[in-house]
Amino acid sequence: MFVETDGQVFLVRDRGKYRFPRGEESLPFRTDPNGVMDFGEDRVVKRTPRLDHHPEEWMGRDSVFERTDVDPLVKRAIYTTMIRCVSEVILSKGPRVLMVKAVRGYSKGHWNIPGGFMDYGEGPEAGVEREAKEEIGTQVVLDGLLNVYVSGFPGKPAYTLGFVYKGHLKSDRFRLKADEIEEAAWFTVDKGLTLTRNPFAKWGLVDFFLQSPVARRALHVKRHGLSERTKPADVPTVLLDRDGVINRGRPGYVRTPEQFEFLPSAIAGMRLFQEHGWRLVIVTNQDASGWKLVPERQLRRIHDRMLASLRTEGIRISEIYYCPHHVLSECACRKPRPGMLLAAARDLGVRPRNAWMVGDKPLDVQTGRAFGCHTAWVGPPSWRKRFEADVHPWSPDVIADDLRKAAVAILKRTG
Ligand SMILES: [Mg+2]
Repeated sequence: MFVETDGQVFLVRDRGKYRFPRGEESLPFRTDPNGVMDFGEDRVVKRTPRLDHHPEEWMGRDSVFERTDVDPLVKRAIYTTMIRCVSEVILSKGPRVLMVKAVRGYSKGHWNIPGGFMDYGEGPEAGVEREAKEEIGTQVVLDGLLNVYVSGFPGKPAYTLGFVYKGHLKSDRFRLKADEIEEAAWFTVDKGLTLTRNPFAKWGLVDFFLQSPVARRALHVKRHGLSERTKPADVPTVLLDRDGVINRGRPGYVRTPEQFEFLPSAIAGMRLFQEHGWRLVIVTNQDASGWKLVPERQLRRIHDRMLASLRTEGIRISEIYYCPHHVLSECACRKPRPGMLLAAARDLGVRPRNAWMVGDKPLDVQTGRAFGCHTAWVGPPSWRKRFEADVHPWSPDVIADDLRKAAVAILKRTG
């Protein structure tokens, strides 16, 4: 048990050495759980003590490293809690942002925004100017801090703090650092989101998009029009796929209001979210509309009828976004592209860190991942077995039989 308060750590003396108290040993004060650090063989449980005084007699966390009478596991756990700092920059030109493709390191073969780990003694601004200049060989001009984010370090119990700046280039002529960057190019925000795996880059791209009038205007997404008078607010939001989550999917599409059939648990699931203060948004690919099988007028009738049924149940949908384009179109909105989610960010104030995408297809999970939000994959066990391999790369945070069960699991995870 790693019990810490205000930089002081509670250790027990055991045969001349200081170590953490073990699970079965009782503590002389009460504690509350504060996470688990998994080191393989050792599991260190972090706990916060309930104390009415400052424990001067405990060991200062920084002094353990120079001592030889402290258990190495204590040193390791304290070292792990030291937050890593990266500093990155979104360089823009109109609605486009500059992204670079790494040759080596953690993001090898993947696109990212310029930046990296800060050096010893270096502030975030100096760090990002140095890293960006090293990577692309040209001076960057910072236009201010976009935001500071925190994220778990993949596969490790450590955490990283990410400073993301906005900026621009003095000159468009890159000299890429050959052993680090193989390519640099300008992308729209929706495209950039599909290219990067870095959560800081994703969250920064969404914040950049929200602050950039030209980027916001450049995104064209169809919506039902429910949100026209809504003031954007950062409220927990569930982004719901339609067919297979809210209503039964049909071979040959839902073409008339009469063919729209709610799934048994869908309304209960939506009600559960709403009762907990969540906002409901629908994001649906309707390529049948692009093929003129279901003209947009007809899609509107189907949705009006769905909304009327939901209203009688006391359920309010904040907006319905739909993509009427066909499979081969280059629109920003067709899932797995995140355009409809970006539109929800713009129109309603949805933030990826406060949102979940719920869908029955692997591409729904992929869409949520692209946006940088949490994801839930729903469907009966036989359905899930069929798509298990396809969904695997997108690792959904929650897997459930239906929307109600997904709602229970999501609400439990978000407290
Ligand atoms: Mg679906």
